[in-house]
Amino acid sequence: MIDVTTLSIAEARKKLDAKEFTAVELLLACLANIKAKDADVHAFLEIYADAKKQAERADVMIAEGKATTLTGIPVALKDNMCFEGHTATAGSKVLEGFVAPYDATVVAKLKEAGAVLIGRANMDEFAMGSSTEHSVYGPTKNPLDFERVPGGSSGGSAAAVVMGAALGSFGSDTGGSIRQPAALCGIVGLKPTYGSVSRHGLIALGSSLDVIGPFGKTVGDVEAMFQVTKGKDAMDLTTVDTTDYPSVLGDVKRIGVPRTFLDENKLRDDVRANFDAALEKLKTLGYTLVDIELPYVKYSVPTYYVILPAEASSNLARFDGVKYGYHEEGGDLIEDYFKTRGTGFGLEPRRRIMIGTYVLSSGYYDAYYNKANAVRRMITKDFNTVFEKCDVIVTPTTAGPAFKLGSKTNDPVAMYLEDIFTVSSNHTGMPAMSVPSGTVNEEGKELPLGVQLIAPHMGENRLFSVGKKFLGETE
Ligand code: GLN
Repeated sequence: MIDVTTLSIAEARKKLDAKEFTAVELLLACLANIKAKDADVHAFLEIYADAKKQAERADVMIAEGKATTLTGIPVALKDNMCFEGHTATAGSKVLEGFVAPYDATVVAKLKEAGAVLIGRANMDEFAMGSSTEHSVYGPTKNPLDFERVPGGSSGGSAAAVVMGAALGSFGSDTGGSIRQPAALCGIVGLKPTYGSVSRHGLIALGSSLDVIGPFGKTVGDVEAMFQVTKGKDAMDLTTVDTTDYPSVLGDVKRIGVPRTFLDENKLRDDVRANFDAALEKLKTLGYTLVDIELPYVKYSVPTYYVILPAEASSNLARFDGVKYGYHEEGGDLIEDYFKTRGTGFGLEPRRRIMIGTYVLSSGYYDAYYNKANAVRRMITKDFNTVFEKCDVIVTPTTAGPAFKLGSKTNDPVAMYLEDIFTVSSNHTGMPAMSVPSGTVNEEGKELPLGVQLIAPHMGENRLFSVGKKFLGETE
């Protein structure tokens, strides 16, 4: 039997090519794990009925010598990516029954590579959240402890990898939704440079912040998934030419530590000790640690909660009960809209639509939205300045390990603060990656934590290089 919970994509590639097992057998091993575990974890909203057909096609590609890195590799997709002929709901009732009429660019690239798209992973409704508890289809649980959340909003994608349901997965990251669940589940998660991966076919949350990125067990796996999915796309005019990737930026020698920012966000002693141990390890690996200051970074979360709701309220305006999915009949068209939106959206999207329309309304636009954008530019300036002194920045990914289900659902601000370390990279568009940094003990359980590495725009190769050394990966 293939042990998918420990197998990396790189190892699977070798074994598939050496005919030690077939893509169909690998898929069946994943499906067996799903059958055994997903009743508890609930990482999936659907297992694609054509997964086996895809695996058979991959086996043909392998037999014909046409295999590339992801051929025959089972991969899970977050429920906000369009896969032609398949349902996509973004974890929301308002998209119930919506079948994608086309492929997202990322999906098209994965299909061309012969990856096996295994299923649709659960997520917070419209990617709003940090625990996957805001999914209308019920929460996902952390496979390492069923009383705890897997993080969010891409919690299903992270859980799928940990439980051995897929070798890799894709999520979207608007404020931390790949890095935070990666940290809470003990795996690697990459938020690429804004515009390096096409958003075409991604159900939008905040268009100036959203990026699609991979989850994997190793940095090498995440790098492989990034390489297959990145690139300029005529269907997304914000994409950048990545032909020169990953050779744009050179070696990493100096790693910046934002000490003041860390001190301002008093970490628990054990979390601080875990981070300090990571710093020591980086020193042992030969890096020079430099103290850096990011004076505006403390405004990242408040700035995000003006810009994000503004963009979300505008993006969600299209869900009116006419064009997509769910419909509630009213006396006239306006009443149709009110009824559909009033019952189709959950609490968190409604809260953000209200905040968003408020900050965009005339009279408040300058005071809130424009002001937030000005602060966003100051945050970006901070990072640009600091990258003259260091090559990569390191922070904890989160202020603590996976928390208990239900412990933050009634306190939106506590939930929002989960992204305190991650959200600034969405403001700046810079790439950032979470790598596992060991565990802390809570109530007798070892719970994973992660450290976050941040690089300048197009600096993914720096993240991969430091991340691999940090995890002791040799290839
Ligand atoms: N937790 C943040 C939010 O609720 C970020 C979500 C995300 O990155 N999609 O908006």
